[in-house]
Amino acid sequence: MTSLRWGSATDIGMVRETNQDSCIAAEPLFAVADGMGGHQGGEVASATALEVLQSSFNKHTKEELLEAVRRANAKVWDKGQLDENLHNMGTTLVALAVIHDAEAEQEMLAIVNVGDSRGYLFRDGYLHQITSDHSLVEEMVRAGEISAEEAETHPRRNIVTRALGVEPTVEVDLDELQPQAGDRILLCSDGLTRELGDDQIAGVLLRLRNPDEATRELITQAKNHGGNDNITVVIVDIEGDSDNQPTDATTSKRKSFKPRLPAASAKPRGGRLTVRMIGFFLAVIALLGVAAGSVVWYARASFYVGLDGEQIVIYRGRPDPVLWFEKTLAERTNKSTSDVLPSALPQLQAGATQSSIDDAHNYIRNLVSEAAAARQTAQPDGNLPSNLEPQYVDPSVPLVPESGSIPPGSTTP
Ligand code: MG
Repeated sequence: MTSLRWGSATDIGMVRETNQDSCIAAEPLFAVADGMGGHQGGEVASATALEVLQSSFNKHTKEELLEAVRRANAKVWDKGQLDENLHNMGTTLVALAVIHDAEAEQEMLAIVNVGDSRGYLFRDGYLHQITSDHSLVEEMVRAGEISAEEAETHPRRNIVTRALGVEPTVEVDLDELQPQAGDRILLCSDGLTRELGDDQIAGVLLRLRNPDEATRELITQAKNHGGNDNITVVIVDIEGDSDNQPTDATTSKRKSFKPRLPAASAKPRGGRLTVRMIGFFLAVIALLGVAAGSVVWYARASFYVGLDGEQIVIYRGRPDPVLWFEKTLAERTNKSTSDVLPSALPQLQAGATQSSIDDAHNYIRNLVSEAAAARQTAQPDGNLPSNLEPQYVDPSVPLVPESGSIPPGSTTP
């Protein structure tokens, strides 16, 4: 008989207001569930899943374990459908069970997984992840779009592609593992693995042999690194069973761990959208819409006074193009560079931004009046050369000659 020793703990972390993680540690079943879906939903989802899992696992076979996970899924789904407040809830689940393998006529360990909580095997001083994340970044890594290192800090790393209770049925990964004395199995929510790297986790498992102490230390370290999420850790140590111990320690060290994959996990993994994922995409689309609207508004909601050759004209847009929004000619005026002071020309060449077309008209009138006043002062006898004759600018008279009007929206020549 395999003898087990274990420790477990869950912690709210340093940031969250509730703890939506749940765990069970009661031989022969150990599990971590990380709930999601609103203030109340996450807690209900993870707790419900584990209650059903535990009550449905009695015969201790892998078939029964798979069936228990499916029942847990159905229960969370049903609860969510019946209660509007719990409508979008779901949960991850990673569970380890001691099962009786009838074929091998021995006890084995089985690990089931849905979502991005994780199972690890710590054997011979090395930490191996023995579950695959059902997450968007994991799929991106598999597709070669990003590296495993980039996945650790990717802004979309919290999007899961599979979860319990978000659909009436669920696809479950199940792996079997032949236990060896000295093995340590770690189950944890992403609140641990987002804060600590494999080396840090392995360091604690190597240093602290007591599973309770190791559990507490991992949670403390995750909180010291920010504790941005709920943190849940279950450690199960394989202690006894001479039958399963390797006779040659050297051989054992060289042997790499390869879990046997049942048919369930050989199926192609679909990219299902979860509530969390859909919400994320909707939020991104909304943000992009707002950003695009702001750019359009910024680019198109203003006018500026500039020059087209010698002629003073009014453009819609910005003097410096914003993205693909080019300026368009809004109006041509009957004023030219000779109607304004030379000191105004640099500003006109650069483009004088105005918040409305009326402001643009006023700006031109002011320039023309300013020039007229200056010229009058410079020629007190009033005998001005005809080409410098001041013009009275009546605000009620439009600056635009009828023949010079250009339909708004026409592009710059
Ligand atoms: Mg979490």
